[in-house]
Amino acid sequence: MLAGFRLRNIGQVTFGVDAEAEEDMPQAAGPFGVPYPTVFVDGEFVDSSQAAISIHANVVSYGTGTFEGIRATYNPDRDQLYLMEPKAHYERLHRSANVLGWQVPLSPEHLTDVSVELVKRNGIRTNAYLRPLFVLAGAELTVKMHGISKQLSIAATPVIGDYVALDGLRCKVSSWRRSPDTVLPGRAKICGSYVTSALAKTEAINAGYDEALLMTAAGHIAEGTTANIFMRRGDSWVTPSVTDDILEGITRSQVMTLLAEHTGREVTERSIHRSELHVCDEVFLCGTAALVAPVVSVDDRPVGDGKPGSIGLQILQELRQIASGESDRHGDWVVPVYDSTKG
Ligand code: PMP
Repeated sequence: MLAGFRLRNIGQVTFGVDAEAEEDMPQAAGPFGVPYPTVFVDGEFVDSSQAAISIHANVVSYGTGTFEGIRATYNPDRDQLYLMEPKAHYERLHRSANVLGWQVPLSPEHLTDVSVELVKRNGIRTNAYLRPLFVLAGAELTVKMHGISKQLSIAATPVIGDYVALDGLRCKVSSWRRSPDTVLPGRAKICGSYVTSALAKTEAINAGYDEALLMTAAGHIAEGTTANIFMRRGDSWVTPSVTDDILEGITRSQVMTLLAEHTGREVTERSIHRSELHVCDEVFLCGTAALVAPVVSVDDRPVGDGKPGSIGLQILQELRQIASGESDRHGDWVVPVYDSTKG
């Protein structure tokens, strides 16, 4: 889901909403605007007012669903909107569903086409976040994964302003842990498992930090609440391995590619001790929403010189250029939506 990083100059935003109607309208929150009206539900494009899920739905009580979050970046100079690796996100949706024992009825290619069409139908010309969701929508009370009707939907929400403070995040290792693979597999993006992230996030904010870092049950650093983590020790970049209860982030693989290009060395995937974060030279988090977010302290200890690391900032810059179609590097990561462009 969304990396909920510290926001600058972004408050509650509502627009085009008259005060009396406001209570009935979807509300904008944080960096997100009012969701776009047209959504895709079980094969059809409908108005979101017709896409309500019942309070009886199995997923509402039990979190029995899986979801994705896909970045759409608007480039005003070209009047073009780019989706960032939509196929990779839909492939992960398929893998998450497989962990739950389900099959997504539409292929990643088909869902990518649907996403392009959804953007066009809403005429989206802002940065946006696409939210595919595959859940147990049937009214069955029984706690189980089989024999309950599912709903596959995609909605889109505008993203307003910048998502992350470039002066860096102050992080705290959480008292909450990532659920082990034997409890709730983190590599699948399962709706219910985000309760842990929410608990950790609120704990960190209430204690005066920007973001929480979660350890595995075994005490290795796993990730942020909605982002993967990278650490530099000297010339070596390290990220937790996929057996340390992380979500296998799409941005994580992009960052691994860019770091290898940048440094000429592969990123090492291995377990990270908490105290390594107290002695390392640079740390950043990464995810779809923020791309890269520098970390300036962990547990009140400065990371490096206590300022955002220069390599992380460079990778952020590169990813921003790729996401907005400004750079041709890794042009295969982005899918342009509109047929003709200005530039
Ligand atoms: N870990 C968690 C728990 C997340 O929710 C996310 C956001 N999807 C990430 C990592 C980063 O993954 P991605 O780069 O695919 O957005």
